[in-house]
Amino acid sequence: MNTSLKDKAMDSTDITDTAPAFSHPSGRPNEWACSEASIMMDRCDQLAEFSQMEHGIERTYLSPEMSQAYQLTSSWMEEAGLKVHIDPAGNLVGKVEGREDGLPSLILGSHLDSVPDAGKYDGILGVVSAIAVAKRLTTSGLMGKLPFSLEVVGFGDEEGARFGATLLGSYALAGSWNPAWLNLKDSNGISMRQAFLDFGLDPDRVGTAALNSTDALGYMELHIEQGPILESRDRSLSFVSSIAAASRYVITVTGESRHIATPYNLRRDALTAAAEMIEAIDRISREAGARSNVGEISAFPGGVNVIAGTTTFSLDVRAGTDDIRDSTLAAIWHAIDVVCASRKVSVERKLIHTASAVTCDAQLLSCIAEGIEKAEGKDAFGLVSFPGHDGMAVSDLLPIAMLYVRCKGGISHSPDESVREIDVAFGVDAFEQAVEALAARIDEA
Ligand SMILES: [Zn+2]
Repeated sequence: MNTSLKDKAMDSTDITDTAPAFSHPSGRPNEWACSEASIMMDRCDQLAEFSQMEHGIERTYLSPEMSQAYQLTSSWMEEAGLKVHIDPAGNLVGKVEGREDGLPSLILGSHLDSVPDAGKYDGILGVVSAIAVAKRLTTSGLMGKLPFSLEVVGFGDEEGARFGATLLGSYALAGSWNPAWLNLKDSNGISMRQAFLDFGLDPDRVGTAALNSTDALGYMELHIEQGPILESRDRSLSFVSSIAAASRYVITVTGESRHIATPYNLRRDALTAAAEMIEAIDRISREAGARSNVGEISAFPGGVNVIAGTTTFSLDVRAGTDDIRDSTLAAIWHAIDVVCASRKVSVERKLIHTASAVTCDAQLLSCIAEGIEKAEGKDAFGLVSFPGHDGMAVSDLLPIAMLYVRCKGGISHSPDESVREIDVAFGVDAFEQAVEALAARIDEA
């Protein structure tokens, strides 16, 4: 299965210009999956109501809106037969035992937080689908025969929208929590330590959310693709062969604030220097086959007739392997040094987040591939995921694997995020069959 999975894996740069239209898949999902998909779509709509934005969706770590989302999601978990608690890191966890009490868990999950002005499905679909799978297993009686317990986790922070650092919930679960994060502040100046207290949790106990490697046997996540490959191939589902390496920085360019009257040869303009750097980042990343983004920039003091003395911008670099990410970064730093010399500015770079590329586990992937093949009736194939996911953090502790569901136009982190019920139905069916396939493999071994 290992090599066949590898053969089926394709790089997500493999997009044809002549993409077929976003047509209906040829088969029909089964009746259970169709009715469950309808419930899941409705639940995504309901969770979208818990938002910090008046018009649009924003739900961040340890916020009152997250607490409301947890209450509703807890009720669905309980209805699915799960025992629910909020863990010390502020993740929502539901659990049901397998054929004996105390068996290690298979963890299914995703995140319940969002970026500002988000769509309804990023993360959310993974949580509601995991609940649907749990419900299917408990109501059919199959759960009581499984050689593992089942945990459904709704992570409290994946996006990092509130405190800058990402994957906080999943790092805590994996035992990679950094207590220094408690000193990070949100845009209102509220420290994470205070946010934990406000949420009713003890900030000094966050580390106890960590699992032991013997507590669980693996982690599987369903997620929308957030890219256009499935659509271009007219497929509902794929597995994720690996999650790309990622590094995030805040880069501060320091020059000198002066009057617009300053001749060019005397200027140390931090904003035009940043512009040159950003252009270089774009060019270098394209040539390297990496994906980069500079999405935030601010200039100080910000006067129309004042040359910027300081400019700060964000940098996020992703690549299919650590080597490509690292060589891309090395080329970017070199280009930035060249700009510094020519524009007489200096640069400080602060690493905010770094994660190695994660290869998904062969056995879990083979189960997901089997689920896809049974649900869709077509060969499964794999994609590299350029978006980061909770699985990256969970992989510090456990084998992980992911299942992608097509989203319209590959659009995500936007109110225009859209999935179709039929793809969701194939997805939840494949997810459930993947869990059954894993049980069968464990029992065969
Ligand atoms: Zn996500």
